[in-house]
Amino acid sequence: MKQIALYGKGGIGKSTTSANLSAALGETGLDILQIGCDPKHDSTRMLMHGAWIPTVLDLVRERGDAAIVTDDVVFTGYAGVRCVEAGGPEPGIGCAGRGIIATFQLLERLGALNGDVIVYDVLGDVVCGGFAMPMREGYAKEVYLITSGELMSLYAANNIAKAIARLAKRSRQTCALAGVICNSKNMEGEEDLVREFASRINSAMVAYIPRSRTVTLAELNRQTVMEYAPESEQAGVYRRLAEDIMKNTRTSIPTPLEIDELEELARRFAQV
Ligand code: ADP
Ligand code: SF4
Ligand code: MG
Repeated sequence: MKQIALYGKGGIGKSTTSANLSAALGETGLDILQIGCDPKHDSTRMLMHGAWIPTVLDLVRERGDAAIVTDDVVFTGYAGVRCVEAGGPEPGIGCAGRGIIATFQLLERLGALNGDVIVYDVLGDVVCGGFAMPMREGYAKEVYLITSGELMSLYAANNIAKAIARLAKRSRQTCALAGVICNSKNMEGEEDLVREFASRINSAMVAYIPRSRTVTLAELNRQTVMEYAPESEQAGVYRRLAEDIMKNTRTSIPTPLEIDELEELARRFAQV
């Protein structure tokens, strides 16, 4: 079983990329489980044709862990992808990370944490103990950082790289960096910048995903690109991403940048 996580800044395109990746993998006949680990709980929405599935945290709060069965939390979406949303704490109180832990514990109890590939879609703005939990506890074995060329998303990706590097120092190595995905914001020199960033942190850019109107149209139609426009160029990009991720065996321990180095890198490419 392959367990991969996409970590990145909020709004960078984690859920769009995760859902299309899962759909592309599901279309090849693989059994895929996608777990949204973002309090925004919309990771699997396009796979579920716009439906907001109940979150694990909401159900645990309502009726307690013991009363939940698999069908309450695992929903089958496009291409047979099994969808789960961890959900978020009540605003102002509670810890999102605890929701992620509760989700894994529940799925383990239900025997539902399985399949050919598990895709974790994790918010990477705050690399606290809570959001690092999938990496720390050995669930997210291969971590992909998703970023654009914007400094703030590179900053978030670099912070996640710091967390992986720190976790790698422990005796029980639980996760490694598997690559960097550039989800484009159409900036000049962006592809080269992200490639250079990936190389500087001892990794590689595994995919460049163009900014595409097809993504917007698919979203307005409450579908993944894979379902909405299977013949489109963008669907081809996600299909290649799925193939490359399945083939990828290169993982590394990242060497994160100092903030000054990161800024210098971004400045250099902005002047292209
Ligand atoms: P995240 O999960 O990181 O918060 P989302 O996947 O929800 O981000 O994406 C945020 C917005 O950006 C969505 O409206 C999505 O349709 C859009 N988006 C993501 N990737 C692309 C892309 N490659 N081209 C065009 N729009 C995109
Ligand atoms: Fe929030 Fe993270 Fe602290 Fe939990 S561990 S309360 S998610 S900052
Ligand atoms: Mg998301």
